[in-house]
Parts: sequence; C-alpha cells; structure tokens
Amino acid sequence: MVDVLAIAAHPDDIELTCAGTLVMLARRGRTFGILDLTRGEMGTRGDAATREAEARRAAEILGASFREALDFGDGGLVQSRENELLLMDVIRREKPRLVMTSYPDDRHPDHRRAGEIVRDAAFYAGLRRIETNHPAHRPQQTIFFSTAWLHAPTFVVDVTPAMETRRRAMEAFSSQFHKPGSTEPQTVLSQRGFLQHMEGRARHFGFMIGVEFAEGFVSMRPPKIDDPIAIFEGAEPGF
Ligand SMILES: [Zn+2]
Repeated sequence: MVDVLAIAAHPDDIELTCAGTLVMLARRGRTFGILDLTRGEMGTRGDAATREAEARRAAEILGASFREALDFGDGGLVQSRENELLLMDVIRREKPRLVMTSYPDDRHPDHRRAGEIVRDAAFYAGLRRIETNHPAHRPQQTIFFSTAWLHAPTFVVDVTPAMETRRRAMEAFSSQFHKPGSTEPQTVLSQRGFLQHMEGRARHFGFMIGVEFAEGFVSMRPPKIDDPIAIFEGAEPGF
C-alpha cells in the first residue's frame, strides 16, 4: 500500500515532471510507488534492458516503495478494457489516496492515452461490481502533470529542497540524454540542453509562487483551501 501512485507511459516521464513532489511527500512521511505503463521498448536510444536498469536506479534515488512496469505497448499504448482492468487491479492492490499521471492531451499520443486510461481506471477501480483480484478502491483524486505541452496549473508545489535528488534521478537515464560523442540517433530528449529546458520549466513554476523550483499540477477538482491569506504568505514584496 502507498499514499501516492505516479503512473506514466514511459520510464523517465515521472522523473521529468513530478519527481520533486514525490520526494517532498516522502520527506513528510508519505509513501509512493511508480508504475510505468510501457517498458520504453520503442525508445530511439538505449534498449529495454538498459532502460529497465535505469528506471530501477532512478526509483531508488527518489525513494520509491516500488517501481513496476506494465506492457501496454510503447509507441502505440493500447487503451483496451483488458489493460484498464490490469491497471485497476494495481490501483486496488496499492490503495493510493492520490494518483498522478500525464495530462490527457500532449504532443506524444502515448502520454495522452496514459492520462486517459489512468483517469478512467482510477474511477472504475471504485466500482465494486467490476471484479479483479483485489477489492474496490477509489483514490480521492487524480491529478495531472504536463509533459511536452504545457497546461495552466491548478496548483504548484515548492520542490526547491528536492531538486538535487530529482536531478540525480533524471541523470540515471543516461541512455536517453545528451552524451558527447554518442553515435546513437538524436531525439528531443538527447538534444544538448534538454535537461536544462526541463529544469527551466521547474524554475518557471517556481517563479509563479516566489520560490526557486516548483512543479505544476492540473486538478479537475480544485483543492480545498482553509486560509487563502496563508497560502500567499510572503508574496507581497516581490509580486
Ligand atoms: Zn514519455
């Protein structure tokens, strides 16, 4: 059982988007797991075995309780009922209170499909008449992070103290990123400067709330706020 389940299409999607928030939650005593919906076997660089070892190492760096992969098909993620039931069963087994996944619209169709199947499975997992190996459980909320295409966040999380850990976890995926002298084909991720762009996004979210680094999330249901003054504490001088 974990408090949070982060689910995405490809190994490394989590590290590039919401890993800082997971680390911050872990520092508050929350537990989290990572579920990759594919093994990244269609990745232009590196092979599946390399990516699996990298994914395991990154999860250790972040402090995940577990990391698992399903096999929904990289480069054509299949949103079948069969896959939805497999996903529902992991959600029911782990009983997360919060699910994080990619926003169900993106440049990469796998990210869009992942967001859709996770959102739907998290809901269906609460219907007790749908049978899988574990009893019904519905997370309290599914929240979404942006991958390539940016979406206006409903809220942002200060991850400044977790940024170094997030950076080390990203660097665990060395087959995917820029390596001087590499003879493997260039991809969006392997362009020189890609990691700086992703870090720049965290800086941009941070700028929005007056901290160095933050991660943004979209939630269809707005978070319940007790004290609207306290949540903007300290913003007056600079904003
Ligand atoms: Zn991806």
